[in-house]
Amino acid sequence: MGSQDQITTNTLDKPKPSPLLGLSLEELTNWVVERDQPAYRGKQLHDWIYHKGARSLNDISVFSKQWRSSVADFPIGRSLIHFRSQATDGTVKYLLKLADGQIVEAVGIPTDKRLTVCVSTQVGCPMACDFCATGKGGFLRNLAAYEIIDQVLTVQADFQRRVSHIVFMGMGEPLLNTDSVLKAIKSLNQDVGIGQRCMTVSTVGIRDRIRKFAQHQLQVTLAVSLHASNQALRAKLIPSASNYPIQDLLTECREYVQVTGRRVSFEYILLAGVNDLPEQAVELAQLLRGFQCHVNLIPYNPIAEAEYKRPSSRAIQDFTSILTQHQIAVSVRYSRGLDANAACGQLRTTQV
Ligand code: SF4
Repeated sequence: MGSQDQITTNTLDKPKPSPLLGLSLEELTNWVVERDQPAYRGKQLHDWIYHKGARSLNDISVFSKQWRSSVADFPIGRSLIHFRSQATDGTVKYLLKLADGQIVEAVGIPTDKRLTVCVSTQVGCPMACDFCATGKGGFLRNLAAYEIIDQVLTVQADFQRRVSHIVFMGMGEPLLNTDSVLKAIKSLNQDVGIGQRCMTVSTVGIRDRIRKFAQHQLQVTLAVSLHASNQALRAKLIPSASNYPIQDLLTECREYVQVTGRRVSFEYILLAGVNDLPEQAVELAQLLRGFQCHVNLIPYNPIAEAEYKRPSSRAIQDFTSILTQHQIAVSVRYSRGLDANAACGQLRTTQV
């Protein structure tokens, strides 16, 4: 091998420094001390990364120029806003460009009292749910913890308001990327300062993953996407469910409640003529009888790639009433920002 080849190979082999976002106060303190700075600089670095919106070490003016240039290779790990779309109800959807050029979606959902961020956990999603735009686009990769935390900081900075709640309901199946999700929850709680009880992790249900997730004894809410009142229909809508009977899923959900003391909510996307019939409401009520839970009914937002339709207001009302008559706690959640392509994955499919 000639010297030219040697140089090229060595350059390619050089590992890229890891982003600092996601490191705890203690880890950042160790990091600055290892680089000849006094320990109190760690607290300053932590403050600038998590609370003052630093996007690069060069932004941190309390550090000397000389030291900043000596660590200039270390990225903080922030994304760029590639596209931003605001709905009339104030919901803002973002397409964020990551360091490798991949795009993920995040959504900021404001009310008077809350600012909720819906975060993605994967680029794309391997679950291929039949009604979902993200699922139609396939799977590219898991997000790292810092790429999840970044979504929250980006929305917080753009709204110039503190984020109060986080829902892990964007692109991807969070329990297929549990390591990053757990790290992100820890950092969003301890470094950004958002209570675990204000976080909801959504899953379509992967065998044994809810059981394992429960062992971490978090105080987050688990939202399980049920979408059907029986196994046969569920397997049609969610391909992976064919190997995971609905009763086994409910057993794991009961274990989650027992181990964590937290309630489980069930998400149910209402698809006209598919899963919104009165007899299916009765079947769902029987399935969940005796389970301390809450059902969120989500009227479907149609997408170009699937033929499902949104039920009529009458059908939604009837379904809700039947669950209530059976003592099931239920609410109807309309996706915010419909006029900005609100449904999961839709913004990405139309803008990239
Ligand atoms: S609904 Fe959720 S789990 Fe299913 S394909 Fe879409 S993003 Fe993935």
